[in-house]
Amino acid sequence: MVFDKDKCCGCSACFSVCPVQAIKWTKNKEGFSEPEIIEDKCIDCGLCRKVCPYEEDHVGKDADPEVYAAVHKDKKVLLKSSSGGAFTALSDAVLRQGGVVYGVEFDREYGLVYGRASDKKRRSRFRGSKYVQCDPGIVYRQVEKDLKDGKAVMFTGTPCYVSGLKKFLSVRKADTEKLFLCDNICHGAASPMVWKEYLRYIRSNVLKGKTVKMLSMRSKKTKWQKQYMDCITEYGDESHLLNKKASWNKLYLTTYATRKSCFSCPFTGYERVGDITVADYWNIENAKLYIDYKSGVSLLLINTAKGKEWFAQCEKDLIYEKSDKKSCWQIHLERQQPISSKRSVFWEDFRKDSQKAIARYSKGSLFNVISRGITPILRKLGLYTFAVNLFGRVKGSGK
Ligand SMILES: Cc1cc2nc3c(=O)[nH]c(=O)nc-3n(C[C@H](O)[C@H](O)[C@H](O)COP(=O)(O)OP(=O)(O)OC[C@H]3O[C@@H](n4cnc5c(N)ncnc54)[C@H](O)[C@@H]3O)c2cc1C
Repeated sequence: MVFDKDKCCGCSACFSVCPVQAIKWTKNKEGFSEPEIIEDKCIDCGLCRKVCPYEEDHVGKDADPEVYAAVHKDKKVLLKSSSGGAFTALSDAVLRQGGVVYGVEFDREYGLVYGRASDKKRRSRFRGSKYVQCDPGIVYRQVEKDLKDGKAVMFTGTPCYVSGLKKFLSVRKADTEKLFLCDNICHGAASPMVWKEYLRYIRSNVLKGKTVKMLSMRSKKTKWQKQYMDCITEYGDESHLLNKKASWNKLYLTTYATRKSCFSCPFTGYERVGDITVADYWNIENAKLYIDYKSGVSLLLINTAKGKEWFAQCEKDLIYEKSDKKSCWQIHLERQQPISSKRSVFWEDFRKDSQKAIARYSKGSLFNVISRGITPILRKLGLYTFAVNLFGRVKGSGK
C-alpha cells in the first residue's frame, strides 16, 4: 500500500493480503476506491507495502516482446470487440482448457463489475473497453481460490491491477503455473462517480427517460479509430444523438476525470506485467502490413514464454501478421500521461453542479477537438510519433 494517496491505483492488493483485516476499503472524494488503515488493528507486518504495484517502475523501460497485428476471423466477434477481438481468441483458449476468465462487465444499471466466466456467453459480456475504473473488490481472492482448485485462470485488466494480482499471489505463495495474465496498454481509468453522473445526465437530458438496451464505448458503425459510442434504446438506435450531445469518450479523453495515480503510472514501458498485452493498433496505417484493419485491429505484445504458448493456441482464430516495436509505438508505451492544469477546474465545476459539468465537458475540450482533427494528418505524413513526443516533452511526463 502506498501512503501517498495520490499514487494509489485502487487495485485492492493491500486490502486482499492484510492478515488481520486492518484495511478498510473506502471511496475518496473523486469516487475512486482506496484503502484506509485501521490503526488499532494494524500489526505493522508490511505486507500491504510489499504487494503495492506502485513500488514498481517500468517507465520507459525497454524490452523485446514479439509484436503482432491481429484480427479475429469471425466477423461477428470482430464487430463486437473494441479493436481486433484478440481478447476473445485468448479467452477461448483458456475456456477450452476448462478454465475461467476474469474481466470487466456492465451490470444492469451500466455500473462496472469484475466478472468471472466459465463459459463463452458470460465471457462475451467482458467484450468492449469500458473507460471507467472498475472496483476489483474481492476478485484477487477468487483468483487464488480458482488456482488452488487447479483451474486455468485468465485475468484481464489494466497493468496496475495485473501487477497487484501478481504480487498478491506471490506473497500468498500461490501456484501460478495455470495463470494467464493479459494487461492492456492504458490511457488511464476514469472516475466511476463521474460515470454515474454521466449516465444520469444522458438518461434525463439526451434520451429523455428512454431505457438503455445497449451501450458501448467503441462503436464499429463508423471508422473504428473514431471512438464513437453506440447506444440503443427501446425506440431504436440513438447513437448519433448521444455522440452529438454528450459523449463519454470526449470527457474521458480530456483526462480530467482520470484517477490521479494514472499520471504517475509506473507501467508505461515496453517492459510489461502481463504474459500478453492487448491494445489498439493505432498506428496501423503506417505499419506497412497487409492485414485488413478496416473493422478494427488488435496490437499484441507477447511478453513471456507462457505468452508464446498461449498465443500459439489462438492462432487458428486469428488472422495475424508480425510487426515491430517502432511501428506500433504509442505514447503509453514510453511515458506517462501529463496531468492537465484544467483537471482541478473540472473537479471544482463537478462539485458545484455535477450535471452542468457533465453537459459542458462531455462535448470535449478544444485541445481534443484540434488534436483529433490533426492526428490522422500527422499519421499520414509519418509525423505522429515525433509530434506526440515533442508535446510530451513540452508538457512534462507527470512523474
Ligand atoms: C481503461 C482502459 C484504457 C485503455 N487505454 C488504451 C490505450 O491507451 N491504448 C491502447 O492501445 N489500448 C488501450 N486500451 C485497450 C483497448 O481499448 C482494448 O481493450 C484492447 O485493444 C482489447 O481489444 P479487443 O478487441 O481484443 O478486446 P475486447 O473484446 O473489446 O475486450 C475488452 C477487454 O478489456 C477489458 N476491460 C474492459 N473494460 C475494462 C476496464 N474498465 N478495466 C479493465 N479492463 C477492462 C475486458 O475485461 C476485456 O478483457 C484501454 C482499455 C481500457 C479498459
